[in-house]
Amino acid sequence: MRIALIAHDEKKADLIEFAKNRRDDLDHFELIATGTTGQRLIDETGLDVERMQSGPLGGDMQIGARVAEETCDGVVFLRDPLTAQPHEPDITALLRICDVHNIPLATNLASADAVLDELVFELEGEDGKF
Ligand code: PGA
Repeated sequence: MRIALIAHDEKKADLIEFAKNRRDDLDHFELIATGTTGQRLIDETGLDVERMQSGPLGGDMQIGARVAEETCDGVVFLRDPLTAQPHEPDITALLRICDVHNIPLATNLASADAVLDELVFELEGEDGKF
């Protein structure tokens, strides 16, 4: 199963903290991330992450394409609700395509834990061990 991790600049520290706290769970998933988020996850948590383009350069759209192909099972997208983003249309498109395909989507830390808990539950059901 594959999870996408994205955080806007003001939220990257929160995402790193989340990834460190949930590292043992995240290790069981294939991870994809937008460029800068992905690099920080690799450098600061040691998780294996497939990096897309940076968000403003199309990374959100690449992740949206995975969602559309149904090869991404959950999205944690820690958006900065207080700062305008130049790529707002791409962000809106990613949120929309998650809803189109009924993909679990977390946009804050509280829901990130809830989404990951659910995906762990689904994964445990699949292989019966972890
Ligand atoms: P970034 O992109 O991880 O490359 O910073 C995130 C975003 O702004 O959507």
